[in-house]
Amino acid sequence: MQAVVFPQAETIAVERVPDPTCAPDEVVVRVAVCGICGTDVHIYRNEYMSEFPLVPGHEFSGVVAEVGRDVKDFAPGDRVTVDPNLYCGHCDFCRNEQANHCRNWQGVGVTLPGGFAEYVAAPARACYKLPEGMSDTQAAFIEPLACVVHALKRLRTWPADDVLIFGAGPMGLLLVQALRYSGAARVTMVEKQTERLKLASAVGASATVSADSGQDEALRDLAPDGFPIVIDATGVPAVIERAFNYLRPRGQYLQFGVAPNHAKVQVSPYDIFRNDWHIIGSFALCYTFLPAIAWLANGVIDVEPLVSHQVDFAGFRQAFDAFAAGRTLKVHVRAA
Ligand SMILES: [Zn+2]
Ligand SMILES: [Zn+2]
Repeated sequence: MQAVVFPQAETIAVERVPDPTCAPDEVVVRVAVCGICGTDVHIYRNEYMSEFPLVPGHEFSGVVAEVGRDVKDFAPGDRVTVDPNLYCGHCDFCRNEQANHCRNWQGVGVTLPGGFAEYVAAPARACYKLPEGMSDTQAAFIEPLACVVHALKRLRTWPADDVLIFGAGPMGLLLVQALRYSGAARVTMVEKQTERLKLASAVGASATVSADSGQDEALRDLAPDGFPIVIDATGVPAVIERAFNYLRPRGQYLQFGVAPNHAKVQVSPYDIFRNDWHIIGSFALCYTFLPAIAWLANGVIDVEPLVSHQVDFAGFRQAFDAFAAGRTLKVHVRAA
């Protein structure tokens, strides 16, 4: 089959690789659409937990092509998506509602061959059937939206919250919709690209602020005492360091964006103490596919405007470079 391969860091190949085999508890999925994610860029730059060579891709939808002999719940022809996070089910983390910290965690497209391929194998227990009428595009957003659901479960949200988000990329644009629908009174988004700020307003941001020399004054005007919830959806260390300037006493800071794994930022421990701050992390997702599917199936979250490019494997390299440079929103790769 054809697949996109990272043979080593900073290298992309589109080549023929062996078809996946189907273990007794697995299904083989013929991929319809797989989204390019910021995590793929971190993998490509070797600043994540992956090893090479790797077929990346962890945000995909498709059709079951083959089922292993022990699989009862799926049949060829079923439209599915796959939770790429594979949990062992028997370690202490798995058995204590923290499966995303599984001691034996594996990730489809992260440590195992992923969805930028014609076919991908995955355990049946990680598959979810798609509701009637859900498009392949919507289905490829289930994984990133499941990460947003996990983040919202990590936060302590309150009716009429006032939220500040740095970064109006695809994840920021999912977060703003999820927060508004969950009851936030106001969500302010900071972003350097004007086009993204327009889209942020269109999908529910109450206020938008350009990340330039006027940012400080604009944010002080909006919230003189700071914001009760500040979310980083950029993963950029310099942005993260400044984000604390806008966090109100008793505020919650959420690290949602993925920073390079060796990056450091300076935060004053005195400020954390003096302000009663909560600093919250949110890693991937934790059995949150079903709420994400429900949000999409019921039209709560609109993902169509978040897709700026659709490409095939031949167009992958160019689209990936443009994505990594911030010149696209979500890029969907069609395997067929
Ligand atoms: Zn992702
Ligand atoms: Zn485990």
